[in-house]
Amino acid sequence: MYSVMLADRLRLPLRGLQQHTCHANCQQPAGTHGDHLDHCVYGSGHTARHDKVRDVIAEMHRTLLRDRAVTTEALDLLPGAGDYRPADVAPSLYPGDNKPKALDIYIGSVVQETGWHPNKNPTLDPLKPLNDAETRKKDLDATKVIQAGLTPQQVQYEKVVLAFATTGAWGRGALAWRKDFLKAFNKVHEGAQPTMDDLDLDTNWNALSPLEYYTQRIAFSIAYHRAFLRVRRRWSTTTVTVA
Ligand SMILES: [Zn+2]
Repeated sequence: MYSVMLADRLRLPLRGLQQHTCHANCQQPAGTHGDHLDHCVYGSGHTARHDKVRDVIAEMHRTLLRDRAVTTEALDLLPGAGDYRPADVAPSLYPGDNKPKALDIYIGSVVQETGWHPNKNPTLDPLKPLNDAETRKKDLDATKVIQAGLTPQQVQYEKVVLAFATTGAWGRGALAWRKDFLKAFNKVHEGAQPTMDDLDLDTNWNALSPLEYYTQRIAFSIAYHRAFLRVRRRWSTTTVTVA
C-alpha cells in the first residue's frame, strides 16, 4: 500500500492499473495513474475518505481546543430542514466567536474536475473545483435556511466549508479556517503552547507542533485513500505495482 502511495505522490505510472476498468456501471478505464477513480461517482472508497478526514478534524477539536461538545453528522443544527445536515463536524464555538462553527468537509479531484494536469494543462486553476464547491455548499445552505423559514440572523451556526483536493491542496475556506483554528488554539492554551507529549500525541509523526501533527494526518488520510481506491477489491498491491 505504501509503495502505491509513494508512487502516486510522485506521479509514477502504476503498472497493472491500466488493464482495469472502473465499476461495472461505469466501465471507464482506470488509466495509468488512476485519476478517474478519485472522482467517479461509482467509486466505493469516497465515503470512507470523507469520513476519515471528518473524524481527524473532530478529534483535532477535542484534543487541541478541549471541545467536548463537538460531534459528527449532527442532525438538529437547522430546525425545520428535515434530514439536511449543514455540517460534518459541529458545533464548535471558538473563543471570541458569536456563533459556533459548522464545518462541512468536501474532497474533490482537481485533475478530473478542471482538466488541470501537471504536464498537459498546468495553467488552469487547480483550486477552482474546491472554491466552486465552497460556493455551491454555501448557496445550498442559504436556500435551506429560507426553506426552514429562518433569517440568517436566526441561524445558530456559522457555515464553514473545508474543501481539500485529492492532491492534498487546501481551498480558500480551509486555509482561512486554519488561521481561525490557530487563534482559537492559542486562546484556549493562553499562549502557552502544549507540546506533543502534553497532549499525548504520537511523536513518531515527525510533527514539531500539535497543529502540524493534525495537518499531516489530514494529508495522510487523503493520500492513503487515494492509494486505497487504486488497489481495492479485485485489484491489489500484487497486481498494481510501481512501474
Ligand atoms: Zn468510473
